[in-house]
Amino acid sequence: MKILKIDHLGIAVSSIDEKKNFWMDAMGLEMEGTETVEAQNVTTAFLPVGESEVELLESTSEDGPIAKYIAKKGEGIQHVAFRVENIEDALAELKEKGIQLIDQTPRKGAGGAKIAFLHPKATSGVLVELCEREE
Ligand code: ZN
Repeated sequence: MKILKIDHLGIAVSSIDEKKNFWMDAMGLEMEGTETVEAQNVTTAFLPVGESEVELLESTSEDGPIAKYIAKKGEGIQHVAFRVENIEDALAELKEKGIQLIDQTPRKGAGGAKIAFLHPKATSGVLVELCEREE
């Protein structure tokens, strides 16, 4: 499989509105806009950083994955996303290598990307997202 770059860092926050100031005012990043992904109970905001992005994640429900993450670990980096050339090929290859996957097949993420998560048990505790997008 071919990994192209670190696509984004997913950062769990209690409120995008309240927490964006650090990234925008102090760090000088610009927000590309927000998008709600209903299937994952999350609103995302992307802030480009060179070739990569910061993705702020705010839960839209009390029992969504981001709400659960913050309840357990507090705000912080929730996942690291790697851009791959072909996500189906990447998943098939990892499966063949015995890597535990959360998503056996890609699902739809923000910005029309195809995404899939690997299990943190297989990655030293890092929630790894693979993503494929058309540019
Ligand atoms: Zn992500």
